[in-house]
Amino acid sequence: MIRVLVIMAICIGILFPVSLEAQTPLEKHSYVQLSSNADLLGYLVQLQDETKGFSLDTSVYTFSGHSIPVVHITGKINPQEKKLKILLFGQQHGDEPSGKEGLIMLIRTLAKNKQIDWLSNLDITIVPMVNPDGADLSTRKNGRGVDLNRNHLILSEIESRLIHKLYWQILPHLTVDFHEYFPYTGSWIKYGATKNFDEQMGCLTNCNISPALRTYERTQFLPLVAEELKHNNISIHEYLVGGPPGVERIRYSTADINDGRQGLGIFGSLSLIIEGKNGKTLLDDIAGRTEKQYKTGLAIIKIASENASRIMQLVESTRMQLASKKSNSYVYTSFEHFTDSHYLQFTARSVATNKDTLITVKDFNPIVKGLDSVKAPRGYLIRKSDSTLVHWLGKIGLIPLNYIPADGDMISEYRLLGKQVCVKEETNWDKYQVEKHPVTIVAKDYYYYNLENISSIACIMALEPVSMYGLVQYKDFNYLLVDPFHFPILRLE
Ligand SMILES: [Zn+2]
Repeated sequence: MIRVLVIMAICIGILFPVSLEAQTPLEKHSYVQLSSNADLLGYLVQLQDETKGFSLDTSVYTFSGHSIPVVHITGKINPQEKKLKILLFGQQHGDEPSGKEGLIMLIRTLAKNKQIDWLSNLDITIVPMVNPDGADLSTRKNGRGVDLNRNHLILSEIESRLIHKLYWQILPHLTVDFHEYFPYTGSWIKYGATKNFDEQMGCLTNCNISPALRTYERTQFLPLVAEELKHNNISIHEYLVGGPPGVERIRYSTADINDGRQGLGIFGSLSLIIEGKNGKTLLDDIAGRTEKQYKTGLAIIKIASENASRIMQLVESTRMQLASKKSNSYVYTSFEHFTDSHYLQFTARSVATNKDTLITVKDFNPIVKGLDSVKAPRGYLIRKSDSTLVHWLGKIGLIPLNYIPADGDMISEYRLLGKQVCVKEETNWDKYQVEKHPVTIVAKDYYYYNLENISSIACIMALEPVSMYGLVQYKDFNYLLVDPFHFPILRLE
């Protein structure tokens, strides 16, 4: 078996020749061993030395002591030019290695070709291996057993905090999170056909995110990337979750703001997730999988460069709207996926014949609608002694202010009347029934957080107790529910 893999690797080497000194760890291992954290660090130091093409930061360490390298590459230096800022990150899930391997190749291409024209208006930050502990263990989760791609709201983990720290430092216009999807699940095999897209792209779907941004991403950016990839014989489809048809509804990926796509898009960036088709094992066709992730990354940044001014304008106007969020406007707190009455058809791979087969999905739910909503307050009042919440608000870029009461200020407190277990995206969530009461407080005991910033919507979705994607849905914040007569997050109306 190993001999076959070595021969395959040699053939791939002939097809995609690279100079020996610039070989990525995966190429050096002839595609029979994945790049470890140590391989990655060694390679980046060597490549940086060789090309002087980027800066490298290795100062953040995981729970198990692995460093998470961050690469920063900028095109031709032209201080006058406003650059499109991009943040790319891979392998949040340790058992999905091809995004990391593809991003390592991408770093090499960018570092060695800094003079290419379309790179000149870009400023790119890349974190190829967000989860080295999970990679080491070949597990989805990190070294503390947490799924990092469900941690972008509460940010309890070093790895997800690093992505958000970079986000607030850079304020990227575009973010891309690289993953892999596994098409060979039992239910699809039983169905008789498996999804066969080389790549899937998940767009922003949460309906609190600006419609202009969502529409641009789905109807313009995705088709341009698909067209670019078609020239490379790579197929891409909007990211489908669920199925097979007749067993489970098919919808687009989650609208929750705790993943690396909506979790950053909620601050107004054009954010997306890429899912390459996984192998049956970690190493199965790793050369092909890596090449597709690499080419997809390259296509995305090329299209982004060609459309830089449009993207910058969209993101900047979205952020201006977020920062001027008016109190009394409404923010959705619960969501559901709905059918749009069209059937979906796509080409899958027949299990019996291994040939293309067209399948029809009648229960396709591509539309996300907001159900319940709350009126936005002017801001929130948080007890200074609530260090958990004060710390968390800092992680999403919010600064505590002293509360100076003014005539006519109206402060409300929630009382929790009960809860109902509801279903969201095929799992349960606790829907709280609440009642609002006016309350008076000792001003010096509270911090005031206004909503005149790009975190405004994220903040409302997180802090409101009725929110299906709010903090109260997480164990770490269960303490907020201890006294149902006095929910501790107060609203300044
Ligand atoms: Zn993943």
